[in-house]
Parts: sequence; structure tokens; C-alpha cells
Amino acid sequence: MAWRCSGVSNEDLISRLVQAKLITIPSVKAAMLAVDRGHFSRFKPYEDSPQTIGYNSTISAPHMHAAALESLALFLVPGAKALDVGSGSGYLTVCMAEMVGAEGRAVGVEHIPELVELAKKNTQKDHPQFLQDGRVAFHAADGRVGFPQHAPYDCIHVGAAANELHDKLVEQLKAPGRMFIPVGDQDGQAIYVVDKDKNGKVTKKKTMNVWYVPLTDAEHQRNR
Ligand code: SAH
Repeated sequence: MAWRCSGVSNEDLISRLVQAKLITIPSVKAAMLAVDRGHFSRFKPYEDSPQTIGYNSTISAPHMHAAALESLALFLVPGAKALDVGSGSGYLTVCMAEMVGAEGRAVGVEHIPELVELAKKNTQKDHPQFLQDGRVAFHAADGRVGFPQHAPYDCIHVGAAANELHDKLVEQLKAPGRMFIPVGDQDGQAIYVVDKDKNGKVTKKKTMNVWYVPLTDAEHQRNR
């Protein structure tokens, strides 16, 4: 499943993900068509695999971006506020911004300042108006404590594997709200979908097994 959706263009890649039923929700399809991965990955942007973006980081594979957006789609509606922890290339943050519309906001947090600059540069090529009107913003910070300045969020995406469901992230979810987070270590990781209901009750569901770079200290990551 992971590799068979590679395409020769952004449109081709997305139509293969649709054919494979990895994209089923129209708003996810529209966002992934509107955001060209070619602006976010220097290498093989239309291949369905992760690619290096430097600093021991990768842009995640398209099928993982699709899975994250599909899982969060109910909370990525016009006017919503989304947090993307470990925003890396900026690709997913811009897709989220596309889905939340002009009245919404997508906040990317990334602990490697050079990658914050890369995400801004990539976004400048793809959707410069999102940076100008503030629909998208990228901040250099440790995402394990979320980004309280703009909390609470309708949804939170975590793009690196955490060793726990960090309390601060759950706290910064709205009620209702949803978080998509890989949890685990080098011996195994899985996606957890954490739901906070309208009364503030939190439940978590383990879904697919995955392989993400760790959610860690910046120094640790640079020296890996
Ligand atoms: N979702 C992004 C990047 C995925 S790689 C994309 O697809 O382009 C995971 C990212 O998490 C890396 O860029 C890494 O630098 C970042 N990261 C790891 N630990 C972090 C932390 N504690 N705080 C913020 N970002 C972190």
C-alpha cells in the first residue's frame, strides 16, 4: 500500500491515492490537490515515500499525510484552528490551512529554526497569501508543550513520534477536539487518535503501526 501510489505529478499522485481509497473525503482531496508537494520536497515529491528535508528530518509520505488529514477532517472545517507539531517542510500545515479557510488558522511549530525558515520559503512558493494574511504561521519552539499562545485548538497533528501523550497537548485541545499523534520508540510506534468530547472527556484509540522520526530535543536530533 505504502509505495504503490507514486505519481508523475501532484495531480497524478492524488488521483492514485483516491483510487487506492487512501483519500475518501472531498475536502482532503481538494486540499491535497491545491498544495503542490513539488514546492515542499526537493527530492521525488510525487513518490509515495518520505523524503529527506535535512537536519535528520523527513517530509512524511503522501499516504501518511492523507491518513492524518482524513482522521482530522471533521475538525478541519472553515473557521477552525489547527496546530501542527513538527511542521518540518510545512506541507501539512498548508493543507490544514487550505481546509480551515480564510476565517481559520493553522499554526506550525518546529524546533529546528532552519526548518521553520524552510517551511516559510516553501509556503512562499505555494501559497504566499497564507503567510501574508496570517492564515498560516510557523514558530520555532519545542512542540512537546504545544503552542499555548493560540490554544485551544480544534485539532492537533503531531508529525514526530512522542514517547507519551504529552499532557500539554491534550490540555490545548478544544472540547470537542481531536489529536492525531504517533507514539512509541525505535522498537515500535502506532498512531493514537485522541478525542476530547464536548464535556472534556478524553478517550484514545490506537490505529495503525507507523514509523516516524522521534519527537525529541533539538540537540539530540541534530546529533543523531
Ligand atoms: N510533518 C512534517 C515533518 C515530519 S518530520 C512534514 O511532513 O514535512 C518530524 C518533524 O518534527 C521534524 O521536522 C523535526 O525537526 C520535528 N520535531 C521533532 N521533535 C520536535 C519537538 N520537540 N518540537 C518541535 N518539532 C519537533
